[in-house]
Amino acid sequence: MNTNFNIKALIRPNVVALQPYSSARDEFKDFDQEMIFLDANENPFKNGVNRYPDPQQRSVKSVLATQKGVETAQILVGNGSDEVLDLLFRAFCEPNSDNVITLPPTYGMYKVLAGINAVENREVLLTNTFELNVAEILKQQDKNSKLLFICSPNNPTGNVFNVAAVSELLENFNGLVVLDEAYIDFSESSSWHTKLSAYPNLVVTQTLSKAYGMAGIRLGICYASPEIIATLTKIKPPYNVNQLTQQKALKRLSDISNIKKEIDSIKDERHKLSKALLEVDFIEKIYPSEANFILVSVDDAKKRYKQLLENGIVIRNRSSQPLCENTLRLTVGTPEENNILIRVLKKLNS
Ligand SMILES: *Cc1c(COP(=O)(O)O)cnc(C)c1O
Repeated sequence: MNTNFNIKALIRPNVVALQPYSSARDEFKDFDQEMIFLDANENPFKNGVNRYPDPQQRSVKSVLATQKGVETAQILVGNGSDEVLDLLFRAFCEPNSDNVITLPPTYGMYKVLAGINAVENREVLLTNTFELNVAEILKQQDKNSKLLFICSPNNPTGNVFNVAAVSELLENFNGLVVLDEAYIDFSESSSWHTKLSAYPNLVVTQTLSKAYGMAGIRLGICYASPEIIATLTKIKPPYNVNQLTQQKALKRLSDISNIKKEIDSIKDERHKLSKALLEVDFIEKIYPSEANFILVSVDDAKKRYKQLLENGIVIRNRSSQPLCENTLRLTVGTPEENNILIRVLKKLNS
Protein backbone atom coordinates (compact mmCIF):
# COMPACT_ATOMS: atom_id res chain seq x y z
CA MET A 1 0.00 0.00 0.00
CA ASN A 2 1.29 3.41 -0.98
CA THR A 3 0.94 5.49 2.19
CA ASN A 4 1.75 8.78 0.44
CA PHE A 5 -1.27 8.44 -1.79
CA ASN A 6 -4.14 10.81 -1.06
CA ILE A 7 -6.96 10.79 -3.60
CA LYS A 8 -8.64 13.90 -2.17
CA ALA A 9 -5.51 15.98 -2.70
CA LEU A 10 -5.13 14.71 -6.25
CA ILE A 11 -8.44 15.94 -7.69
CA ARG A 12 -8.41 19.38 -9.34
CA PRO A 13 -9.98 21.98 -7.02
CA ASN A 14 -12.48 23.09 -9.70
CA VAL A 15 -13.65 19.48 -10.03
CA VAL A 16 -14.02 19.15 -6.27
CA ALA A 17 -16.12 22.33 -6.25
CA LEU A 18 -18.14 21.39 -9.32
CA GLN A 19 -21.89 20.92 -9.17
CA PRO A 20 -22.37 18.38 -11.97
CA TYR A 21 -25.09 18.71 -14.60
CA SER A 22 -28.17 16.85 -13.50
CA SER A 23 -30.03 15.36 -16.45
CA ALA A 24 -33.71 14.47 -16.56
CA ARG A 25 -32.66 10.83 -16.55
CA ASP A 26 -30.55 11.36 -13.44
CA GLU A 27 -33.42 12.93 -11.54
CA PHE A 28 -35.83 10.18 -12.50
CA LYS A 29 -33.82 7.00 -12.68
CA ASP A 30 -36.33 4.18 -13.27
CA PHE A 31 -36.99 5.03 -16.87
CA ASP A 32 -37.62 1.39 -17.79
CA GLN A 33 -41.00 1.62 -16.14
CA GLU A 34 -44.20 2.31 -18.04
CA MET A 35 -44.49 5.98 -17.18
CA ILE A 36 -45.42 9.03 -19.17
CA PHE A 37 -42.15 10.81 -19.80
CA LEU A 38 -42.64 14.55 -20.21
CA ASP A 39 -39.39 15.53 -18.51
CA ALA A 40 -36.66 15.63 -21.16
CA ASN A 41 -38.16 17.35 -24.20
CA GLU A 42 -37.84 14.19 -26.26
CA ASN A 43 -40.01 13.42 -29.26
CA PRO A 44 -42.67 11.05 -27.84
CA PHE A 45 -43.14 8.97 -30.99
CA LYS A 46 -41.37 5.63 -30.65
CA ASN A 47 -38.62 4.62 -33.06
CA GLY A 48 -36.29 2.70 -30.73
CA VAL A 49 -34.02 5.63 -29.98
CA ASN A 50 -36.35 8.56 -29.26
CA ARG A 51 -35.47 8.47 -25.53
CA TYR A 52 -32.15 9.55 -24.03
CA PRO A 53 -29.97 6.58 -23.05
CA ASP A 54 -29.25 5.62 -19.44
CA PRO A 55 -26.55 8.13 -18.36
CA GLN A 56 -25.25 5.63 -15.77
CA GLN A 57 -25.17 2.70 -18.25
CA ARG A 58 -26.44 0.45 -15.47
CA SER A 59 -27.13 -2.69 -17.56
CA VAL A 60 -23.71 -2.66 -19.19
CA LYS A 61 -21.96 -2.03 -15.88
CA SER A 62 -23.91 -4.75 -14.14
CA VAL A 63 -22.84 -7.35 -16.72
CA LEU A 64 -19.21 -6.18 -16.57
CA ALA A 65 -19.28 -6.23 -12.77
CA THR A 66 -20.45 -9.84 -12.76
CA GLN A 67 -17.98 -10.96 -15.41
CA LYS A 68 -15.00 -9.22 -13.82
CA GLY A 69 -15.88 -9.71 -10.17
CA VAL A 70 -15.90 -6.01 -9.26
CA GLU A 71 -18.54 -3.63 -7.90
CA THR A 72 -20.50 -1.44 -10.33
CA ALA A 73 -19.17 1.52 -8.30
CA GLN A 74 -15.69 0.54 -9.55
CA ILE A 75 -16.66 0.90 -13.23
CA LEU A 76 -16.92 3.84 -15.60
CA VAL A 77 -17.72 3.36 -19.27
CA GLY A 78 -16.88 5.86 -21.96
CA ASN A 79 -17.01 6.61 -25.66
CA GLY A 80 -13.94 4.43 -26.26
CA SER A 81 -11.02 4.26 -23.84
CA ASP A 82 -9.82 7.46 -25.46
CA GLU A 83 -12.66 9.30 -23.68
CA VAL A 84 -11.81 7.55 -20.42
CA LEU A 85 -8.16 8.62 -20.72
CA ASP A 86 -9.20 12.21 -21.49
CA LEU A 87 -11.46 12.26 -18.41
CA LEU A 88 -8.47 11.24 -16.28
CA PHE A 89 -6.54 14.27 -17.53
CA ARG A 90 -9.45 16.60 -16.98
CA ALA A 91 -10.22 15.34 -13.47
CA PHE A 92 -6.67 15.22 -12.13
CA CYS A 93 -4.29 17.41 -14.15
CA GLU A 94 -4.19 21.17 -13.74
CA PRO A 95 -3.32 22.71 -17.15
CA ASN A 96 0.06 24.42 -17.35
CA SER A 97 1.28 23.17 -13.98
CA ASP A 98 0.79 19.42 -13.56
CA ASN A 99 2.62 16.68 -15.45
CA VAL A 100 2.12 13.07 -16.50
CA ILE A 101 4.72 10.38 -17.17
CA THR A 102 4.57 8.26 -20.31
CA LEU A 103 6.89 5.47 -21.41
CA PRO A 104 7.71 5.47 -25.12
CA PRO A 105 7.61 3.56 -27.34
CA THR A 106 3.92 3.35 -26.46
CA TYR A 107 0.38 4.29 -27.45
CA GLY A 108 0.37 7.74 -29.06
CA MET A 109 -2.81 9.05 -27.48
CA TYR A 110 -1.31 9.74 -24.04
CA LYS A 111 0.98 12.36 -25.54
CA VAL A 112 -1.78 13.86 -27.69
CA LEU A 113 -4.14 14.08 -24.71
CA ALA A 114 -1.41 15.73 -22.62
CA GLY A 115 -1.01 18.29 -25.40
CA ILE A 116 -4.75 18.94 -25.69
CA ASN A 117 -5.04 19.39 -21.95
CA ALA A 118 -1.92 21.60 -21.69
CA VAL A 119 -0.24 19.14 -19.35
CA GLU A 120 3.50 18.46 -19.43
CA ASN A 121 4.35 15.00 -20.78
CA ARG A 122 7.50 13.59 -19.15
CA GLU A 123 8.80 10.79 -21.30
CA VAL A 124 10.90 8.01 -19.79
CA LEU A 125 11.98 5.56 -22.47
CA LEU A 126 11.65 1.84 -21.97
CA THR A 127 14.98 0.01 -21.76
CA ASN A 128 16.35 -1.37 -25.01
CA THR A 129 14.67 -4.70 -24.19
CA PHE A 130 11.37 -2.77 -23.81
CA GLU A 131 11.24 -3.13 -20.02
CA LEU A 132 10.21 -0.49 -17.47
CA ASN A 133 12.99 1.78 -16.24
CA VAL A 134 11.57 1.95 -12.73
CA ALA A 135 14.38 3.97 -11.14
CA GLU A 136 14.24 6.65 -13.84
CA ILE A 137 10.43 6.86 -13.73
CA LEU A 138 10.52 7.46 -9.98
CA LYS A 139 13.30 10.00 -10.42
CA GLN A 140 11.12 11.98 -12.82
CA GLN A 141 8.19 12.08 -10.40
CA ASP A 142 7.59 15.32 -8.50
CA LYS A 143 4.67 16.72 -6.52
CA ASN A 144 2.89 17.71 -9.75
CA SER A 145 3.06 14.24 -11.30
CA LYS A 146 -0.55 13.13 -11.46
CA LEU A 147 -0.71 10.22 -13.90
CA LEU A 148 1.67 7.47 -14.99
CA PHE A 149 0.60 5.56 -18.09
CA ILE A 150 1.66 1.93 -18.40
CA CYS A 151 0.37 0.11 -21.47
CA SER A 152 0.51 -3.65 -20.89
CA PRO A 153 0.60 -5.52 -23.23
CA ASN A 154 2.35 -2.52 -24.72
CA ASN A 155 1.47 -1.07 -28.10
CA PRO A 156 3.52 -1.29 -30.36
CA THR A 157 6.05 -3.63 -28.72
CA GLY A 158 3.57 -6.38 -27.71
CA ASN A 159 5.18 -7.30 -24.38
CA VAL A 160 3.62 -7.45 -20.93
CA PHE A 161 5.48 -5.69 -18.13
CA ASN A 162 6.94 -7.54 -15.20
CA VAL A 163 4.57 -7.76 -12.22
CA ALA A 164 7.25 -6.84 -9.68
CA ALA A 165 8.21 -3.70 -11.61
CA VAL A 166 4.60 -2.54 -11.94
CA SER A 167 4.01 -3.25 -8.23
CA GLU A 168 7.05 -1.17 -7.32
CA LEU A 169 5.62 1.73 -9.33
CA LEU A 170 2.20 1.33 -7.70
CA GLU A 171 3.90 1.43 -4.30
CA ASN A 172 6.03 4.47 -5.03
CA PHE A 173 4.19 6.67 -7.51
CA ASN A 174 2.01 9.14 -5.64
CA GLY A 175 -0.36 9.94 -8.47
CA LEU A 176 -2.56 7.49 -10.35
CA VAL A 177 -0.97 4.56 -12.14
CA VAL A 178 -3.04 3.93 -15.27
CA LEU A 179 -2.68 0.42 -16.67
CA ASP A 180 -3.95 0.46 -20.24
CA GLU A 181 -5.04 -3.12 -20.89
CA ALA A 182 -6.50 -2.73 -24.37
CA TYR A 183 -4.82 -6.02 -25.36
CA ILE A 184 -5.06 -7.97 -22.10
CA ASP A 185 -7.41 -10.62 -23.53
CA PHE A 186 -4.70 -11.77 -25.95
CA SER A 187 -2.24 -12.27 -23.09
CA GLU A 188 -1.60 -15.12 -20.68
CA SER A 189 -1.03 -12.61 -17.88
CA SER A 190 -3.87 -11.71 -15.57
CA SER A 191 -5.47 -8.30 -15.53
CA TRP A 192 -4.52 -5.78 -12.86
CA HIS A 193 -8.21 -5.11 -12.12
CA THR A 194 -8.05 -8.02 -9.67
CA LYS A 195 -5.60 -5.93 -7.56
CA LEU A 196 -7.81 -2.86 -7.16
CA SER A 197 -8.38 -3.39 -3.46
CA ALA A 198 -4.63 -3.57 -2.82
CA TYR A 199 -3.78 -0.33 -4.66
CA PRO A 200 -5.94 2.79 -4.20
CA ASN A 201 -3.92 4.58 -6.91
CA LEU A 202 -4.54 1.89 -9.55
CA VAL A 203 -6.66 2.64 -12.61
CA VAL A 204 -7.20 -0.08 -15.23
CA THR A 205 -8.57 0.71 -18.67
CA GLN A 206 -9.93 -1.85 -21.09
CA THR A 207 -11.94 -1.62 -24.28
CA LEU A 208 -14.35 -3.54 -26.48
CA SER A 209 -12.39 -2.29 -29.52
CA LYS A 210 -9.83 -5.08 -29.85
CA ALA A 211 -10.48 -8.61 -28.50
CA TYR A 212 -14.24 -8.03 -28.29
CA GLY A 213 -14.40 -7.04 -31.96
CA MET A 214 -16.39 -3.84 -31.46
CA ALA A 215 -14.15 -0.93 -32.44
CA GLY A 216 -17.09 0.55 -34.33
CA ILE A 217 -19.37 1.04 -31.33
CA ARG A 218 -16.81 2.93 -29.18
CA LEU A 219 -16.97 1.46 -25.70
CA GLY A 220 -14.10 1.88 -23.29
CA ILE A 221 -14.04 0.78 -19.67
CA CYS A 222 -12.28 2.06 -16.59
CA TYR A 223 -11.91 0.04 -13.38
CA ALA A 224 -10.78 1.92 -10.27
CA SER A 225 -11.70 2.71 -6.67
CA PRO A 226 -15.24 4.04 -6.07
CA GLU A 227 -13.70 7.45 -5.21
CA ILE A 228 -11.86 7.68 -8.53
CA ILE A 229 -14.89 6.44 -10.47
CA ALA A 230 -17.17 8.96 -8.72
CA THR A 231 -14.79 11.77 -9.69
CA LEU A 232 -14.71 10.74 -13.36
CA THR A 233 -18.48 10.25 -13.39
CA LYS A 234 -18.92 13.76 -12.03
CA ILE A 235 -17.23 15.34 -15.06
CA LYS A 236 -18.27 12.99 -17.88
CA PRO A 237 -20.76 14.20 -20.50
CA PRO A 238 -24.16 13.00 -19.21
CA TYR A 239 -24.99 10.77 -22.18
CA ASN A 240 -21.46 9.77 -23.18
CA VAL A 241 -22.38 6.23 -24.27
CA ASN A 242 -25.23 6.13 -26.74
CA GLN A 243 -28.21 3.79 -26.75
CA LEU A 244 -27.12 1.72 -29.77
CA THR A 245 -23.67 1.16 -28.24
CA GLN A 246 -25.16 0.06 -24.93
CA GLN A 247 -27.50 -2.39 -26.71
CA LYS A 248 -24.80 -3.84 -28.97
CA ALA A 249 -22.36 -4.17 -26.07
CA LEU A 250 -24.91 -6.04 -23.94
CA LYS A 251 -25.63 -8.44 -26.76
CA ARG A 252 -21.94 -9.13 -27.39
CA LEU A 253 -21.12 -9.51 -23.69
CA SER A 254 -23.83 -12.17 -23.42
CA ASP A 255 -21.90 -14.29 -25.91
CA ILE A 256 -18.54 -14.66 -24.19
CA SER A 257 -17.92 -18.16 -25.60
CA ASN A 258 -17.93 -16.85 -29.15
CA ILE A 259 -15.57 -14.00 -28.19
CA LYS A 260 -13.25 -16.55 -26.58
CA LYS A 261 -13.26 -18.59 -29.80
CA GLU A 262 -12.23 -15.57 -31.84
CA ILE A 263 -9.49 -14.70 -29.35
CA ASP A 264 -8.17 -18.27 -29.48
CA SER A 265 -8.12 -18.16 -33.27
CA ILE A 266 -6.22 -14.85 -33.23
CA LYS A 267 -3.71 -16.28 -30.73
CA ASP A 268 -3.20 -19.40 -32.90
CA GLU A 269 -2.71 -17.21 -35.94
CA ARG A 270 -0.25 -15.01 -34.05
CA HIS A 271 1.80 -18.11 -33.34
CA LYS A 272 1.66 -19.33 -36.95
CA LEU A 273 2.44 -15.89 -38.29
CA SER A 274 5.46 -15.47 -35.98
CA LYS A 275 6.86 -18.77 -37.24
CA ALA A 276 6.23 -17.96 -40.89
CA LEU A 277 7.89 -14.55 -40.51
CA LEU A 278 11.15 -16.34 -39.62
CA GLU A 279 11.38 -17.34 -43.27
CA VAL A 280 11.28 -13.80 -44.57
CA ASP A 281 14.88 -12.76 -45.27
CA PHE A 282 14.49 -9.01 -44.77
CA ILE A 283 12.85 -9.43 -41.34
CA GLU A 284 15.69 -9.10 -38.86
CA LYS A 285 13.80 -9.47 -35.62
CA ILE A 286 10.37 -10.67 -34.54
CA TYR A 287 9.39 -9.36 -31.14
CA PRO A 288 7.42 -11.78 -28.96
CA SER A 289 3.84 -10.56 -28.63
CA GLU A 290 1.03 -11.00 -26.13
CA ALA A 291 -1.27 -8.82 -28.22
CA ASN A 292 -3.05 -9.18 -31.58
CA PHE A 293 -0.17 -7.68 -33.51
CA ILE A 294 3.49 -8.44 -34.09
CA LEU A 295 6.30 -5.91 -34.21
CA VAL A 296 9.15 -6.76 -36.56
CA SER A 297 12.46 -5.08 -37.41
CA VAL A 298 13.26 -5.00 -41.10
CA ASP A 299 16.07 -3.82 -43.37
CA ASP A 300 14.18 -0.79 -44.69
CA ALA A 301 10.77 -0.09 -43.13
CA LYS A 302 9.76 2.63 -45.60
CA LYS A 303 10.49 0.48 -48.59
CA ARG A 304 8.75 -2.62 -47.19
CA TYR A 305 5.72 -0.60 -46.12
CA LYS A 306 5.39 0.75 -49.65
CA GLN A 307 5.83 -2.67 -51.25
CA LEU A 308 3.10 -4.15 -49.07
CA LEU A 309 0.78 -1.26 -49.98
CA GLU A 310 1.41 -1.94 -53.66
CA ASN A 311 0.28 -5.49 -52.94
CA GLY A 312 -2.92 -4.31 -51.27
CA ILE A 313 -1.83 -4.77 -47.65
CA VAL A 314 -1.87 -1.93 -45.14
CA ILE A 315 0.35 -2.22 -42.09
CA ARG A 316 1.83 0.34 -39.69
CA ASN A 317 5.34 1.73 -39.92
CA ARG A 318 6.40 2.43 -36.32
CA SER A 319 9.86 3.75 -37.15
CA SER A 320 9.14 7.25 -35.84
CA GLN A 321 8.85 5.87 -32.28
CA PRO A 322 11.98 5.82 -30.12
CA LEU A 323 13.76 2.42 -30.03
CA CYS A 324 11.66 1.37 -33.03
CA GLU A 325 13.87 2.31 -35.97
CA ASN A 326 12.92 0.27 -39.06
CA THR A 327 10.03 -1.50 -37.39
CA LEU A 328 6.67 -2.50 -38.80
CA ARG A 329 3.60 -3.46 -36.80
CA LEU A 330 1.46 -6.20 -38.31
CA THR A 331 -2.04 -6.81 -36.99
CA VAL A 332 -3.04 -10.48 -36.91
CA GLY A 333 -5.89 -10.93 -39.37
CA THR A 334 -8.05 -13.87 -40.41
CA PRO A 335 -6.23 -17.07 -41.49
CA GLU A 336 -6.87 -16.10 -45.14
CA GLU A 337 -5.50 -12.58 -44.67
CA ASN A 338 -2.43 -13.86 -42.84
CA ASN A 339 -1.73 -16.40 -45.59
CA ILE A 340 -1.81 -13.64 -48.19
CA LEU A 341 0.49 -11.50 -46.02
CA ILE A 342 3.00 -14.35 -45.74
CA ARG A 343 2.82 -15.07 -49.46
CA VAL A 344 3.45 -11.43 -50.34
CA LEU A 345 6.29 -11.07 -47.81
CA LYS A 346 8.02 -14.15 -49.21
CA LYS A 347 7.54 -12.87 -52.74
CA LEU A 348 9.38 -9.69 -51.72
CA ASN A 349 12.26 -11.75 -50.30
CA SER A 350 14.47 -11.49 -53.38
C1 LIG B 1 -6.47 0.50 -29.52
C2 LIG B 1 -6.04 0.99 -28.20
C3 LIG B 1 -6.95 1.55 -27.33
C4 LIG B 1 -8.39 1.58 -27.71
O1 LIG B 1 -8.99 2.74 -27.60
P1 LIG B 1 -10.56 2.83 -27.85
O2 LIG B 1 -10.76 4.30 -27.76
O3 LIG B 1 -11.22 2.08 -26.72
O4 LIG B 1 -10.88 2.24 -29.17
C5 LIG B 1 -6.53 1.97 -26.07
N1 LIG B 1 -5.24 1.83 -25.72
C6 LIG B 1 -4.35 1.27 -26.53
C7 LIG B 1 -2.96 1.07 -26.08
C8 LIG B 1 -4.71 0.85 -27.80
O5 LIG B 1 -3.79 0.32 -28.62
